[in-house]
Amino acid sequence: MKDFQLYNTLSGKKELFKPLAGKEVRMYVCGITPYDDAHIGHARCYIVFDLLRRYLEYLGYDVKYIQNVTDIDDKIIKKSRDTGKTPDDIAGKYFNEFLKSMELLNVRPATLYPRVSENIDEIIVFIKGLIRKGSAYESAGSVYFSTDSFKNYGKLSGRNPEDMLSADAEHAAEKKNKSDFALWKKDKEFSWESPWGRGRPGWHIECSVLSKKFLGEKFDIHGGGLDLIFPHHENEVAQSEALTGKNPVKFWVHNGMVNLKGDKMAKSTGNFFLLNDLLENYDPMIVRMYLLSTGYRQVLNFDISELADTKKAFNKLCEFKKELYQVFGKVPDSDKGKVKLPETVENVLNNDLNTSAAIGEVFKIVNPLTEKFLKGDFNKLDISQGLAAVSAMENILGINLSIDRGPDADRVEKLLEKRRRLREEKKYAAADKIRDKLLKEGIYIKDTLSGARWFRK
Ligand SMILES: [Zn+2]
Repeated sequence: MKDFQLYNTLSGKKELFKPLAGKEVRMYVCGITPYDDAHIGHARCYIVFDLLRRYLEYLGYDVKYIQNVTDIDDKIIKKSRDTGKTPDDIAGKYFNEFLKSMELLNVRPATLYPRVSENIDEIIVFIKGLIRKGSAYESAGSVYFSTDSFKNYGKLSGRNPEDMLSADAEHAAEKKNKSDFALWKKDKEFSWESPWGRGRPGWHIECSVLSKKFLGEKFDIHGGGLDLIFPHHENEVAQSEALTGKNPVKFWVHNGMVNLKGDKMAKSTGNFFLLNDLLENYDPMIVRMYLLSTGYRQVLNFDISELADTKKAFNKLCEFKKELYQVFGKVPDSDKGKVKLPETVENVLNNDLNTSAAIGEVFKIVNPLTEKFLKGDFNKLDISQGLAAVSAMENILGINLSIDRGPDADRVEKLLEKRRRLREEKKYAAADKIRDKLLKEGIYIKDTLSGARWFRK
């Protein structure tokens, strides 16, 4: 196994990554609340954790990846009231759209997408356990977590108690302490039966319950956006540790936010860029490359004009892959794990997944090789380096490079082969006829030491 260093929010530093048990990595990432269109902040988050998953698999681990779906929530209920549609219909519609966008962005599906509404029984059992332990209390038909009862409250976010007051002013009178938060909310309309009357779960509890159910009391990685550290993840730690007595997560991994024109991009400000709009106007692979051009923990200042530069860089890589195809005959399917990455790329990815540097290292291989290919001056080592660079882009960064060979590529290649034979037989006039015919179609031929290559004008 490689020396993979990953930043852990809990310790505030990079640590050597090692799974809790054997070769299995258990990873939980907070999923979406499907009540509206996904925006570019969602794309960044799930691309980052897709990358982490791909890299862990490359390193030889088996990754079990759980992503919850918050299919019952205040925002969904509000939308239901506004539109007259059921919460189920709303969540179903937006979750399906989310999956479609993720597929376009080449984000591989999680192992499982458990829905909150399908796990209410487990949530009730968990809350009952917390009440039994004295960590939670019922009040006016709702149940609250008692933050006073958990001495480590604040250990993830590093906040002081006075900075951790719950924003839920409406129910302040029901709470013993201002920082207490709801585990179960009294509700008549969108609700389930419980020992405390009809109601529905709070948001934080679902992630504690679902991670425990599918990954166990202790698991390797918990991910999400930086904005979830407090209160969501802080509260998850409190709930899980209060129930089991164990620190639930070994590595807390958080991706940076996306800013739009300098403002923090969040739904609440109405300042966001919708993913559907973006993917209709730009190749999803260029969007993915753009998002990975900034290190995952940094703030990404989204600037649509920069996508043009990314497109240029992307096209260069696609041209390179086509070059490789012509030299090699065919670029073998660089299945995961089959092609070893260039060492330089591996080194920077081992340093907390530095994707920005990884793309730089790929170009350090691709640029001089492109020159060599055009001169026809290359050897076997060059080709294997080229394949490794393509594999890094496609299999680890997940940016598939298209080679536009066009519908008649096979015919062109057959003609080139015929031309080669004619030239061997010194039938130059006949050979030139083929060249001229192709030129009329906008295809020109360049003879290199490694044979003829064709390009579309
Ligand atoms: Zn969560």
